[in-house]
Amino acid sequence: MILDCAIVGGGPAGLTAGLYTTRGGLENVTMFEKGMPGGQITNSSEIENYPGVIGEITGMDLMMPWPAQCQKFGLVHEMVSVTRITKDGDLFTIHKEDGKTVDAHSVIVGTGSSPRRVGFSGEDEFFGKGVSTCATCDGFFYKGKEVAVIGGGDTALEEALYLAKICSKVYLIHRRDTFRSAPNTIKRAKNTENIEFVLNSTPDEVYGDETAGVTGLRVINKDGETRDIEVPGIFTFVGNDVNNETLIQEDGSFLCDMNDQGQVIVNISMATSVPGLYATGDMRIAAPKQVVSAAGDGAVAALQAIAYVDELLN
Ligand code: FAD
Ligand code: NAP
Repeated sequence: MILDCAIVGGGPAGLTAGLYTTRGGLENVTMFEKGMPGGQITNSSEIENYPGVIGEITGMDLMMPWPAQCQKFGLVHEMVSVTRITKDGDLFTIHKEDGKTVDAHSVIVGTGSSPRRVGFSGEDEFFGKGVSTCATCDGFFYKGKEVAVIGGGDTALEEALYLAKICSKVYLIHRRDTFRSAPNTIKRAKNTENIEFVLNSTPDEVYGDETAGVTGLRVINKDGETRDIEVPGIFTFVGNDVNNETLIQEDGSFLCDMNDQGQVIVNISMATSVPGLYATGDMRIAAPKQVVSAAGDGAVAALQAIAYVDELLN
């Protein structure tokens, strides 16, 4: 069977593409998602800017009903990692990690982005043993203890606020003295008694041992002075890298045009340089990196895919 549309990635972009393609009349649509659907927002302790949703809810709460809504209209979810997407003539092939392949007339890719590493000494060694990129997942391990958060964007400040409710103290370490985060979030963080700002400072080394895990972090400020912050937990939130691996071809080139940051170049309809291939959400150029815009991209791409498949087959 050839799929009308293959959706790669099951975050807000992929799920919305799934909803609109199936509800819009495409018969055979499969969403290939390597984990549970929902995407990276499911790691967020709080989302307050999704339209129509009022009150304190987690990213998981927000995303919970989305897969069932899609499945109601016929979307199939296959839990598998896609290794590559290729195209031969008019037909796309989805290559899966189990070695099997599936063909499709159109593809909507929305593989999102992943947390970036900061690059300090010991970060890799202690990753998962005191160094984390997910406060919702790991914050509870540090209940009543002191932790450090690294970064100065929305994610770092929001997650620092979350951790401040669980932990006795949060050191917010940022390399500058101004933030990228929304003004309201900065204000809330500054008004939180147990958040200490350690500014103009970068992490130099995390240390600890095999049994105790992380015991501390050494930071260095812009004047070259070092400070030891003794914490068992370090949360890093320094941005994300685009997940574009599925578009890399056997010869190392990309299936479609990309910019120099590895983001997919799309037009206003989410169409890439390859007919029938659409890119959505965090992985595309000029992405606002929001759940609402990723969902919007998914809807736009789905409507385009429906028209494309209709013209191709009729
Ligand atoms: P993602 O959500 O990244 O989903 C991509 C999906 O693709 C993932 O489920 C992944 O498993 C899957 N995938 C990747 N590669 C493969 C593969 N090879 N094969 C199969 N599946 C694959 N936005 C807001 O609007 N408001 C907020 O308050 C907010 N808070 C945030 C807090 C945190 C901690 C983080 C990390 C992000 C936050 N964001 C927020 C940003 C928001 O989560 C993203 O912009 C949004 O999730 C992007 O959606 P997406 O569908 O493009 O990608
Ligand atoms: P971000 O906005 O790119 O911020 C990354 C932060 O990490 C910056 O403060 C940066 O410092 C710092 N940083 C980067 N590399 C570093 C390094 N090697 N060492 C030390 N510090 C480093 O990333 P983000 O906060 O994850 O947000 C990503 C996107 O998602 C943004 O568009 C954001 O608006 C969005 N988002 C939105 C919400 C929301 O709407 N509520 C919530 C979360 C995320 P500099 O500032 O000095 O560059």
